[in-house]
Amino acid sequence: MGLIIKVENLKAVYLVREGTIKAADGISFDVEENSVTAIVGESASGKSTIIEAMTRTLPLNGRLLEGRVLYRQKDLLALNKEELRKIKWKQIALVPQAAQQSLNPTMRVIDHFKDTVEAHGINWSRQELIQHASEKLKMVRLNPEAVLYAYPLQLSGGMKQRVLIALALLLEPEVLILDEPTSALDVLTQSYIIQLLKELKKSLNITLIFVTHDIAVAAELADKIAVIYAGNIVEYNSVFEIFKNPLHPYTKGLMSSIMAINADMSKIKPIPGDPPSLLTPPSGCRFHPRCEHVMEICKKEKPPLLTLEDGAQVACHLYGQGGR
Ligand code: ATP
Ligand code: SF4
Ligand code: MG
Repeated sequence: MGLIIKVENLKAVYLVREGTIKAADGISFDVEENSVTAIVGESASGKSTIIEAMTRTLPLNGRLLEGRVLYRQKDLLALNKEELRKIKWKQIALVPQAAQQSLNPTMRVIDHFKDTVEAHGINWSRQELIQHASEKLKMVRLNPEAVLYAYPLQLSGGMKQRVLIALALLLEPEVLILDEPTSALDVLTQSYIIQLLKELKKSLNITLIFVTHDIAVAAELADKIAVIYAGNIVEYNSVFEIFKNPLHPYTKGLMSSIMAINADMSKIKPIPGDPPSLLTPPSGCRFHPRCEHVMEICKKEKPPLLTLEDGAQVACHLYGQGGR
């Protein structure tokens, strides 16, 4: 397996009246071909910002300050609009957060498929369009006859999410990026979507990158987890290692809280304090005001994301330079 995506030092901010929200503060990570990567973090930690910066879909007040997003050695951030359009959908497809609301209520499902095809200058006949759309709808276990001519309002949340996944698969991308594919769905529908994504991954040999605030969802589906805290990746490792031996104090806190669901309540060690404002983030390590291991250096210097001998990546002054 080779690398398919390499994100390097991605920095993005939002301009607001009060100043600048530093929402992605130097994000770097590699994604292997045919792997599943989960981007995990609490609300407002910058997960969507990373995805939007990578796919150049930041909102109007968003600014990409620096970084590279290499897709098979091509920097997506340096492409012109036409070059980017060729790659999007055909090679990299995105299902944004809350995309269900972006389905046009006045358009039937088939029309959404038609729009996508036309936007990419593909000349399919009506028959071909129906055939391709039906094939993709079947992949997400929807009955094309029941769904193709339905309006979004006639579909449940889980069905809409599956239509969006089918739509994203229409041009057979190599990479599928999903921002919170299971949030806002009931628990049963969530696990149905997870199973479905697992099957798609197997049958299509596709690379998946998905965002979730729920580490249990990440564990079900992902090979690797990138843990985000306040606009930074604090740890990046295989699901197995993250669960077996979390390294970063924040990851340890996260793990302790989910493990505690099945364990002795007296062992729960909640992380003290609140997530910081990204308008005025803490200096040095952004986790330092909440960290029980904080040292002087943590308040001054941002810890780089280090790769340790066993391949684990962690951004914390406890590691490297004689630490571990
Ligand atoms: P969630 O789990 O709630 O989707 P997230 O991890 O995806 O959260 P982001 O949406 O990336 O977080 O937001 C990161 C930070 O940037 C937050 O502080 C958020 O309030 C802020 N933010 C996001 N979008 C904008 C915007 N358009 N303008 C100003 N601030 C924004
Ligand atoms: Fe804690 Fe320092 Fe590590 Fe940050 S760098 S997590 S403050 S020990
Ligand atoms: Mg988000």
